[in-house]
This record gives sequence, C-alpha cells and structure tokens, in this order.
Amino acid sequence: MRLKDYLELEKKLKHHPNIVKDNIGDAILYHSNPIFRCIRDRIVKMDFQFTLEDPYQYFSCKLNALDRLKSGRILPYLPNRKALVDLERKSPGLITLKDVNLLRINWNATSLHECCHIIASRLMVRNRSDQNSLGAQFVLNANLEEAFADIIEYFCQLYINTEAEKFSSNYNMYVQVLSYPEKKLLREAIQICGMEVAIKSIILLCLSSHFLIAEVGTSMLKNFEKLIGPSPLFSSHVKQTQLRKKIYKMLLFQITPFRIGVGSVYFKGHRYKSSLKKTLNFDPAKFMLNDREYYLRVLDQMVELITIPNY
Ligand SMILES: [Zn+2]
Repeated sequence: MRLKDYLELEKKLKHHPNIVKDNIGDAILYHSNPIFRCIRDRIVKMDFQFTLEDPYQYFSCKLNALDRLKSGRILPYLPNRKALVDLERKSPGLITLKDVNLLRINWNATSLHECCHIIASRLMVRNRSDQNSLGAQFVLNANLEEAFADIIEYFCQLYINTEAEKFSSNYNMYVQVLSYPEKKLLREAIQICGMEVAIKSIILLCLSSHFLIAEVGTSMLKNFEKLIGPSPLFSSHVKQTQLRKKIYKMLLFQITPFRIGVGSVYFKGHRYKSSLKKTLNFDPAKFMLNDREYYLRVLDQMVELITIPNY
C-alpha cells in the first residue's frame, strides 16, 4: 500500500474528538477496532488527556513513569504522523508502508497499552490503605494489570485484517500482528468456551506466564477453575489441553525476554529486595482463590471491557 493512500484513508476517518489525530494509525484503529475504541472512550471518560508535554520523562524511561501515569491525568505521546506526512510531501506517491517500516519510526504505547494499565489499576483499587501495600498482593496485581494489557492487545488482533490495520497496529501495540493460525487459536477458544470464559481463562493463562511458569500444571488449573468456574481451556481433555498449550506458548513467546527485564526492575523499584524469581515464587491461583470475591469482581470488570457484542 502506498503511504499516500494510507494517509488519505486516515484523513477521512480522523473526525472524532477521541482520536489522537497526529498519532500514526489512531484514526484507523479507532474506527475499525471495537476494543481499541472501547479503551480509548473509557480513558477519555476518565478525564485523561493526551499531551505533547512529558513531565514524567516517559519517553526516556516508560517503566519509571508508569506509576505517575496511573495516578495522573495525562498521557504523553509523540506526534509521529507528522513524519509520515513530511515523507510523503517530499516524494509524492513513491513511499510504501513497507518502506516506512524500514525506518523504525517511534510508536506510542500510551495510545492503548498504558491506558489498559491505568484502567486495570483503578479496577483493582480497594481502599486507600492497601493501595500501596507491599507483599504478594502488589506483585499479583501488577502482573494481573500487565496480563490485562497484553490480552487487550491480543483480542484487538482479532479485528486486524487489512494492510492499513496491520500497519496501524505496529505503531500502537507491543503484541506483534498475529498470523492467521495464531488468531485461529483465540477464535477456537472463544468457540469452545464462549466469550466470557475464554477471556477470563486467557487472562489467567497470561497471568501465569507473567509468573514465568513454563507450563501450567494440573493443580493450578484446578484452582483457576475453583476461582472462575469450569473452563474447557483448563480441562484435561486431549484436544482442549493441546489448544491451551498452544495458546500458552504463544503468550510466552511474544514477550518473555522483555518481561523478565521489566519485571525485575519494576519490583526493585518498589523495594523488593529479592530476585525476580523469588519475588514471583508463589502460586497466583491459590493466592486469588483466598480472595475469590475480590478477584472475581476484577475479572468480571475486565471481561466487560473486552467483550464486544456480536463478535
Ligand atoms: Zn505493560
């Protein structure tokens, strides 16, 4: 696809107040992707504003700024679309989207991923006193927040089809564009579980991957079922076990090295003195089961955000 045609398509779609007009792909995703749109509408409703200012030094170190983003009201972003407009102006009709991908233009994680962190962290707040409490709950909730942000990106992928949508996705998501067989795994999960159970199960699998568990064992699966009720993805039937393992492999594969680095620094930043391995050395399923009512409510609210009617 020519950059010229892409920019024209974006221009046609950019007339909605919730669209960040100079972020690459924003208009296209807002119009074509119901999950992207839902997260955007929610964050705007929460009075967050996208800004070109960067008071938290977000662009120098995203992780270090995350807590301040969560407690603030602003989302710093780079107006990266201007570079595309300039490229096109200099050589009209010659540049393609493939050419642009070679340039490694900076992308905006604040357009979707960080919004998910903010939304999830607010869903999980119980009361002021335990909001900053250390210990296992902080670790579990940080990982659940991360799992939610990841799963939002994965489910967004179900709506990414055209070249323009794929290009837009590359500039707004950590999760790389999923292949047809990868999307098929998610679709199969939805088919056998129903949307709600599929989302909850896959969030819990993603959570396990954030605990760096190589393979989710039977006792953890049983505890997950005690938490959310029966899920075909947690059953021991051969076909469903195969599907779960494939989905889990996909979740582990996409972000593990990055996750280990970020995880260890994030927890150290909250004064956890042990290694990441030790910090994560508890069973997330058991922990959630001990606080079932709270975690079920959190999961239900997360599901509501991802479930788009008539999928
Ligand atoms: Zn994240």
